[in-house]
Amino acid sequence: MSASKILVSLSNLSLSNDEKNKLITDLIEKCECVSKENPGNLCAKYATEYLKSEEGKSLSNEDLLGFYKCIKTGIENPDSKLGAYATKVGDYKKYHSFFDKVIRDYHGAKTEDIHSTDWTTLEDASFDLKECGLEEVSMRIRVGRNLVSFDLPASMDKIIRVQFEKKMTTAFDALKEKYGGVYHSLSPDWNEEKNPFLISTEKYEELVSRHFMFKDMSSDSYLSSASISSDWPYGRGCWISDDESNIIWVGEEDQLRIMCMKNGSDLLKLFEDLKDLLDSIEKVEGIEFAKDKDYGYITSCPSNLGTAMRASVHIKIPQLTIDGSISAVDHLCKPLGLSVRGTGGEHTPVVDGILDISPSSRLFVSESQILSTLYGGIQSVVAIDNHISNFLNGNAKGEKEGEQDENKCPSSFVLVENDKTVERDDDEKKRSQQAVKDMKKKMKQMKKSSLMGKSAKCLHLSPGPVLQLTNA
Ligand code: ADP
Ligand code: MG
Repeated sequence: MSASKILVSLSNLSLSNDEKNKLITDLIEKCECVSKENPGNLCAKYATEYLKSEEGKSLSNEDLLGFYKCIKTGIENPDSKLGAYATKVGDYKKYHSFFDKVIRDYHGAKTEDIHSTDWTTLEDASFDLKECGLEEVSMRIRVGRNLVSFDLPASMDKIIRVQFEKKMTTAFDALKEKYGGVYHSLSPDWNEEKNPFLISTEKYEELVSRHFMFKDMSSDSYLSSASISSDWPYGRGCWISDDESNIIWVGEEDQLRIMCMKNGSDLLKLFEDLKDLLDSIEKVEGIEFAKDKDYGYITSCPSNLGTAMRASVHIKIPQLTIDGSISAVDHLCKPLGLSVRGTGGEHTPVVDGILDISPSSRLFVSESQILSTLYGGIQSVVAIDNHISNFLNGNAKGEKEGEQDENKCPSSFVLVENDKTVERDDDEKKRSQQAVKDMKKKMKQMKKSSLMGKSAKCLHLSPGPVLQLTNA
């Protein structure tokens, strides 16, 4: 039975027990099939377990339908890594035995880990990217937030999406005194009434190109299977402060994405500005962010729970992106706890050697740890890229094109472990092996183009890598 047929059958809440059991069996079969082909799909793996358990088998018709809505995207998109979204704030509690396994597996957490919020940074911490040799870069820190008084976007219909948007425009009024600000809306109408904040298509495109506004979500199959992108563009918009550095998205993957974005180098100032903005919004009457005692801030996707924070910078890494791909930077960044994207956002390519780098963890880490990870990670990546650059520039000195002196090329290319031993789990080991493989491939290319001596060797790559290039 197809995923949408299962949904139609489940929507008949007066199903008999036999009919329901038959649907559960179909669903288990479907999940097992997805899991077999895609063992990395956490949704399919744990939904199978859940539906076979006593708890799963005894779900009411209504709760089974609710559960199916959470897992539908992972079944319709077998290549999903996580594959499940909460559709209501209470889903993490209602389907706890399922979600808890998905969450702890995805975030590599122990059963007893609980999340706590902490924005405190050390008094003498600087986090100024100038100290890493960078001048002006594009910095952005965002958090996802959802209000307790509305369902999550996957459960909203067109009318509710617009009602939510209207509520937020009154909250934006309350921010006027401190931030000024203008709200830009995409809703063609407000439930048949005129929308006073509607912008033109040209204005929307301009806002997207300046990274102020999110892209059309309806082409994202993961979001559309979960109904998160339904009713596009109703209830979608963004608020931008007068100084253009405080931004609030309405109606993307979470009800709200709240962010500070600036060209500059002072990451700490940006972090503190975001905390101020969040405090100002929380003071507005009727605004209460949904929070869970174990998982922190509630978000649609379990990958964002906790801090719901992604702190990113767009930086140029010319040497490690010499082949036009993100793969070398990606493998270097993984052990540093960082993720890499193109500057157009997730699933976009590297352009001109500029990449989006951000810490991977959001849950069971504090906000201030995310800031430190980003700063420390950028320091390492920039240092490594500069190191390669220095070698290459050294080689090029006094040589005619195509006549590089091999003796001057780095003959060993070594990635060694930090002084202290870092514990690694099997996954990390596997990743390291993959990283070594990729690095070897990259070295082969560099040797071929005479950028590196023929005897260069990649000896080791591990968590907390230190790159050494020598002419020994
Ligand atoms: P998120 O999931 O954190 O919102 P996405 O990868 O979906 O991030 O990107 C959303 C938008 O934010 C894209 O337009 C992207 O270019 C922009 N963006 C992300 N980080 C930065 C940054 N440091 N500077 C400028 N724009 C950014
Ligand atoms: Mg996104």
